[in-house]
Amino acid sequence: MHYVILRDDDTNALTPVNRLEQLYLPFLERGLPVNLAVIPEVRLDARRPDGGIERFLPEGHRPSEGTRRMEENPALVAYVRTNSGYHVAQHGCFHDCFEFDRVDQKAATHLMERGARRLLEAGFERPRAFVAPHDRFSRSGMAAAARRFDVVSTGWFELGRQPLAWWPHYSWKKARCAPHWQVGSTTLLSHPGCLLSRARAPKTILPAIRRQVEGQRLTVLVTHWWEYFDAGQPVSAFIDVLHETAAYLANTPNIRVISFGELARGGVPLS
Ligand SMILES: [Zn+2]
Repeated sequence: MHYVILRDDDTNALTPVNRLEQLYLPFLERGLPVNLAVIPEVRLDARRPDGGIERFLPEGHRPSEGTRRMEENPALVAYVRTNSGYHVAQHGCFHDCFEFDRVDQKAATHLMERGARRLLEAGFERPRAFVAPHDRFSRSGMAAAARRFDVVSTGWFELGRQPLAWWPHYSWKKARCAPHWQVGSTTLLSHPGCLLSRARAPKTILPAIRRQVEGQRLTVLVTHWWEYFDAGQPVSAFIDVLHETAAYLANTPNIRVISFGELARGGVPLS
């Protein structure tokens, strides 16, 4: 059996409901779980590493001071909560640039607690999985995430960014060329880059996904809802690929799509 976790990053209080619906209805209708990595309290002038305004903020958005909490968008919260196929992971706190790459353990813990509290205030359950903005952790940030969450999903793992006490585990993972590993009760997941990305030619995406999914036990597929729209207009060729991916995942007998929560409950092999 091959297992797949679909992770969509950057849902926040300014995300239009109809965009998520347009992308994920074919998954929800087929009973395929969609893991939304939700920004609990989005910064209204959140910046990308290159200094530009983050594209998960609405088109025409005028950057301003302050933040917006998920609970301030009750329609979005209700939509996510009433569709049982959506599973919420915590995506940082404010989604500041490299938010967990520049913090000591105390600051990381404080941000994680604030973010978790914002999700609880919106009516979501306490998240079991954590995704850092831009998939970047300092050593302290990683240690803080592993202490608080059952699952940490990121891009890849570098020795220098792992807590010293983890180095023996890390060496063992490295020796086995294992993409995912476990430290204590926390599962640490890598992913093969954003295969579902507009930076790739549409016709190459599904073949790359098939190779990846069928080549290993568990694959995390990462995408970003805002990439499927250009100046507010849907990018049909890319949305079609996403929906073809849903059909492929649902119709292939030896593939199971799971949530981070199901992984945390145990019973899913990592390799
Ligand atoms: Zn993000």
